[in-house]
Amino acid sequence: MRNSKDTLIRPVGQPDSISRPIVTPLSTAVAFASSTPDELDAQYEGRESGFTYAREGHPNATVLAQRIDALEGVSGGIVTGSGMGAVTAALMGVLSAGDHIIGGDQLYGRSLRLMKEDLPRFGVETSLADPTDADAFASAIKDNTKAVLIEVVSNPTLRVADMEGIAKVCAETGILLIVDNTFTTPRSYQPFQHGADVVIHSVTKLLAGHSDVTLGYVAAKDAVLQKKIYDFAVTTGMTASPFDCWLAERGLATFDLRFERAQANAVALADHLAGLEGVKRVLYPMRDDHPDTIRAQALLQGQGCNMVSFEVKGGRAAANALARAAEGIAFAPTLGDVGTTLSHAASSSHRALTPEARAALGMSEGFFRVSVGLEDSDALNAIFTQAVKASQDV
Ligand code: PLP
Repeated sequence: MRNSKDTLIRPVGQPDSISRPIVTPLSTAVAFASSTPDELDAQYEGRESGFTYAREGHPNATVLAQRIDALEGVSGGIVTGSGMGAVTAALMGVLSAGDHIIGGDQLYGRSLRLMKEDLPRFGVETSLADPTDADAFASAIKDNTKAVLIEVVSNPTLRVADMEGIAKVCAETGILLIVDNTFTTPRSYQPFQHGADVVIHSVTKLLAGHSDVTLGYVAAKDAVLQKKIYDFAVTTGMTASPFDCWLAERGLATFDLRFERAQANAVALADHLAGLEGVKRVLYPMRDDHPDTIRAQALLQGQGCNMVSFEVKGGRAAANALARAAEGIAFAPTLGDVGTTLSHAASSSHRALTPEARAALGMSEGFFRVSVGLEDSDALNAIFTQAVKASQDV
């Protein structure tokens, strides 16, 4: 005779096992059953831990967030559906109409758009300032300034922010310091140890590392602030997919190794490019000829980063030839992948600017950014030798 439980549509529980999986199981459940209303109360009131509804939190997001928390030296961070989700949750979670925020003038394009277009629509005043100059931030402060948003290393010119100076200004004035640590990663820089109140990541990039998930992370040092950010993310449905979280956790297992290899390759590629005929300049923060090298050496714990930018002589035709000849290197607007990727500011991230405005930022048609991957370093350098040569043969 069939047990009545066998006729239920939802089987009850897991198969018996005295052993545990060694990999975090993928948990796709949207809802989690509690035993009684009292138990549910205990969960909602924080007296017991447990999940209720996936938009509010699920095991794969928690496991991933805790692993990034450990890297950043904080607790209670959350995972969002994208890096921009994390930026938005941080800003909208802490700002209200009438507040003012100062952002770095070379923030990631969508963060800039948020500052210039979206926040003002909700009554938040915004200003931009040069993050390599703490005095410029200090001068931009108004009575209603509530927060500052900066990236430690800017994209694609790889300028290094005056983190110490800006953190000092924020601490003295009680302004929240929000740091997007995507480029630097906790291997090079740990913002909470240098005065940050909120840290953001596009997990999509180096942390996950395989260009197969889009995710973000945001953590605040202060629990009340973290709760505001969490509530905004949950209310606006920024939930990360369990599968993406699972993949990112898998990627994170090799983050240290990938970072080391990628940055060693980046150092070698930067030096190699600097010696090639046709290369006008190379930007790499740890090189002596970088404008912020002293600050980079002091801030980045000798780690550098995996990004190298460079400029070749010639216009769009030279750029087309270079991208075409860089065989096996994806010409794609992302970074932090296991494979090297190449991007071109004039046709992607900075396409909305006039040629004159791009020139003022040092981004000619011959300007490229490389996100260096894990390939064999000599093979990689050889590809760039060939690509640069092709650009000059046009
Ligand atoms: N912050 C930085 C520094 C980025 O480079 C990016 C994307 O390139 C983002 C945030 C946004 O991340 P996502 O693409 O995961 O939304």
